[in-house]
Amino acid sequence: NDEFLIRSDKLSAIGQLAAGVAHEIRNPLTTLIGFTQLLKSKYNEPYCVIMLEELDRINLIVNEFMLLSKPQISNIKQNNVKILIDSLIFLLKAEAIINNVQIFSEIEENIPLIFCDVNQLKQVFMNIMKNAIEAMPTGGHFIIQSQVSSEKVVLRFIDQGHGIPKEQIPKLGQPFFTTKEKGTGLGLMVCYNIIEAHKGTIYIESVQGRGTTVNITLPQSLMT
Ligand code: ADP
Ligand code: MG
Repeated sequence: NDEFLIRSDKLSAIGQLAAGVAHEIRNPLTTLIGFTQLLKSKYNEPYCVIMLEELDRINLIVNEFMLLSKPQISNIKQNNVKILIDSLIFLLKAEAIINNVQIFSEIEENIPLIFCDVNQLKQVFMNIMKNAIEAMPTGGHFIIQSQVSSEKVVLRFIDQGHGIPKEQIPKLGQPFFTTKEKGTGLGLMVCYNIIEAHKGTIYIESVQGRGTTVNITLPQSLMT
């Protein structure tokens, strides 16, 4: 499908350079981490702990950048997003319990299959779900709903977290925009990229102090 290829080419052009650099950084970084671990175990030097923490941080950022370099659409198949989301809820169970967050999946049983790259959508949902849990440090409900129309599937991720100040909404998805001490500010950018490549949309609504809803719309077929 021509239109589709053009779209993804344009999208990945931005990421390509950054991803290329990230790739080049990775090998020396792996070496640095390895030798620092060796130093730590050999001399028990406390500075090595700090160095390893900082190296981990670089590693995290580099890895998120690498996601941009992957072909926008690599393995398109018909997938059941309910099964995907249920498996992610299972993975996040421990984190949710620790944070006193209750997750409710209200996705309809026979949701239509969606043409998508399941590994890419996994990254999208995982980041959105982590963001929701991270926004509820004192707990709350996190509800995932679906709404199906003739051509589209809408997924809603509704949290009762601290919400997002109005003036920050336009910054969501900009590289490195984060309000978290240990955030990268790359998660939503990757989400926007992947959902756009799937011809879908992300729309975020938020009321400060009340919560945030992330709406993801995906076409049932990419062939239109
Ligand atoms: P990170 O999670 O590393 O900070 P993201 O790109 O995933 O990066 O998110 C960027 C910012 O958007 C977050 O730091 C946070 O301020 C805001 N944000 C995203 N999702 C939510 C949410 N569900 N509730 C409140 N704020 C959110
Ligand atoms: Mg995030």
